[in-house]
Amino acid sequence: KASVFWYRRDLRLDDNVGLYHALKGESAVIPIFIFDTEILEKLPKTDARVGFIHQQLVKIRKKLRSDFNSDLGIYHGKPVEVFDAMSKEFSIDTVFTNHDYEPYAKQRDKEVAEFLTDKGIGFKTFKDQVIFEKSEIVKGDGKPYVVYTPFKNKWKEQFNPSVDLVEYQPDFANLLQNKRFPDCKLEDLGFQESDIEVPDFVVTKDLIQNYEDTRNFPAIKNGTSRLGPHLRFGTISARKMVKKAIAEENEVFWSELIWREFFMQILWHYPHTHKKAFKPKYDRIEWRNNEAEFEKWKNGLTGYALVDAGMRELNATGYMHNRVRMLVASFLCKHLLIDWRWGEAYFAEKLLDYDMSANVGNWQWAAGSGVDAAPYFRIFNPMTQVDKFDKQKGYINKWVPELQELSYPEKMVDHKMARERCLQVYKEAVG
Ligand code: FAD
Repeated sequence: KASVFWYRRDLRLDDNVGLYHALKGESAVIPIFIFDTEILEKLPKTDARVGFIHQQLVKIRKKLRSDFNSDLGIYHGKPVEVFDAMSKEFSIDTVFTNHDYEPYAKQRDKEVAEFLTDKGIGFKTFKDQVIFEKSEIVKGDGKPYVVYTPFKNKWKEQFNPSVDLVEYQPDFANLLQNKRFPDCKLEDLGFQESDIEVPDFVVTKDLIQNYEDTRNFPAIKNGTSRLGPHLRFGTISARKMVKKAIAEENEVFWSELIWREFFMQILWHYPHTHKKAFKPKYDRIEWRNNEAEFEKWKNGLTGYALVDAGMRELNATGYMHNRVRMLVASFLCKHLLIDWRWGEAYFAEKLLDYDMSANVGNWQWAAGSGVDAAPYFRIFNPMTQVDKFDKQKGYINKWVPELQELSYPEKMVDHKMARERCLQVYKEAVG
């Protein structure tokens, strides 16, 4: 008999709850990853995130081979079909995995659970990517929080480090040994290396201690942690990061990690917000949705230097600083009156740290339609944002070097006109 540990958004060996429990069981454990054809089919063939996942799997595989005489099975297909094939090759008693909260993942896991149950195979799942999930933090009446600050307060009230920050160090002695799975190169999946790489994160003492002073200024190197993709793919444990925030006594950094969990529980409770406004009347807004203008925004050719710098950083690196994300999102929805879903989809394609819950949550925040959103009449002024956050123009000069030259485009809309137009259109829709 063998059991399976199915990796998804938790690509690490240490402090991994599902892996820990699998290895504690009676049967020898086969760790696997499935490149899901349904997900891969929709991605460009040079998607940097696929390359990153592949790189991490190769690292895990090497370690399992060299240190434990074991292996990682790397499959390519539909999960149910992979489990069907595996159940013919091995006598499997249980499949272990960690929770995944996105709408597609919920549906996939439901199908897998049904399939395994039919075969008499157990399916055990664990909380791993967050401290609190689903309905663990709810209001007195059992309803989910839709405002951040009371959510955060309740989160902290309920938080108990001796339970919530336990480290789950697996006992690798129980891995299945002497089994080699076939190689799986990136090319075998139909993908190629991208020019874009996921940078390492910088969660140093200095960074956390100075975080309030540095985090709002995109020109500062290492002003934020770059944890995004690592939390997304689980190459670092979220529990360890909360532990660090607490050790350095930095409330602001800690709060950012709680924002992540806030949006995760929102998507869990309100999965339709991926497609629809959280506040329904915002779906009445008459977006202009001008495609030529959308192209200018995407390519960083709006004539507003900080907006353009942000979009160019995104296109070149798969990252954009949070301050600038807020501005470009507001500019798209409010100055151009383009549907936030267009912007959300573009970010989904480009961001290395793309996470549906954070992306949808933040886009709806910018559009004014979401939980705890900015009021619609607060419209960022793209010029004063430069004075506040890039006064020396260090960031703008890096990404828009032609700013002083004739080749730099004129502003695509007049700020004052766009502001008034936005207020009028929003007012008509939402009163
Ligand atoms: P740090 O400032 O070092 O923060 C540490 C971690 O805290 C982040 O990695 C992230 O996990 C979490 N965090 C910080 N701010 C937020 C926030 N506002 N919402 C949720 N989590 C947060 N973040 C994503 O992880 N994925 C996305 O797809 C995403 N899309 C966004 C879209 C828009 C329009 C906006 C305005 C923000 C978006 N964010 C998203 C939030 C934020 O911009 C990024 O998490 C942050 O810039 C990542 O850089 P960092 O890891 O250096 O952040």
